[in-house]
Amino acid sequence: MNIVTNPKKLQEIASQLNDDRIRIGFVPTMGYLHEGHRALLKEARKNNDIVIMSIFVNPLQFGPKEDLNSYPRDLEHDKQVAIDEGVDYLFHPSVEDMYPSPMSVKIKVQRRTERLCGQSRPGHFDGVATVLTKLFHLVQPTNVYFGKKDAQQLAVVQGLIEDFHFPINLVAVNTVREEDGLAKSSRNVRLSEIERKEAGILYKSLANARVELIKGKKDIKDIILQVKDEIETNSSGKVDYIEILTYPDLEEVKERTGSIIVAGAVHFSHARLIDNIIFEL
Ligand code: AMP
Repeated sequence: MNIVTNPKKLQEIASQLNDDRIRIGFVPTMGYLHEGHRALLKEARKNNDIVIMSIFVNPLQFGPKEDLNSYPRDLEHDKQVAIDEGVDYLFHPSVEDMYPSPMSVKIKVQRRTERLCGQSRPGHFDGVATVLTKLFHLVQPTNVYFGKKDAQQLAVVQGLIEDFHFPINLVAVNTVREEDGLAKSSRNVRLSEIERKEAGILYKSLANARVELIKGKKDIKDIILQVKDEIETNSSGKVDYIEILTYPDLEEVKERTGSIIVAGAVHFSHARLIDNIIFEL
């Protein structure tokens, strides 16, 4: 496996691969890799000639009070995972490599961000879209892989690719979970032992909401209250939001047909967890 830190160098490699009609599968990550990332890498390995993974904790997508500095990192472990999963190029730039001078232009996401994490993390998706625009120009991938765990991110990326005519196929990968339903996440290591035992309630309560909706329950506000209550009664977590919206537009559910997302975010003492379920009504 080749490790590249210099953006220009990566772009030269990718340009040559594209000239040679070699299909590039790209998996952007922030590292501290787990089974969820492995699922993306496996999918990329199946359908491309070359797999490029980036590991970059992007300061632009963290708010001033968020966990940029304490975000978990373990490059040696990540390198081994990358080798195990058949990654060809690991792109691991420094912040200075990616942002050598203040950006003259940033991307501002205007749709699909009023609700969910967009509401609780102002500017987050602008930072995500900006770094992905840079990464897409560097990697020039054929296929790019994102997890459904970050469903709002997926919806934003879909908009970015369409609006800016990136010639990239977006592949959405199912959420990988622990046995109790907790979505695998780099931030799970920051749960205390007790919180870890409680944290499965997030997925379970979202799954219960899904059942209620499928059974035909009409009162969405009531379902949301039930979910909040279930989480806060069965854990020490504090609900940031629980929402039931259309997907991928993330608007209020008016007609009871089409794709629906039931999504939630919960604060534990040192970790904010998110999860969702997307299904057809
Ligand atoms: P991150 O390193 O957290 O930025 O995540 C990198 C990619 O892995 C994103 O596309 C995430 O949606 C995806 N991902 C994270 N956790 C999971 C999971 N449990 N299952 C599937 N994909 C995931």
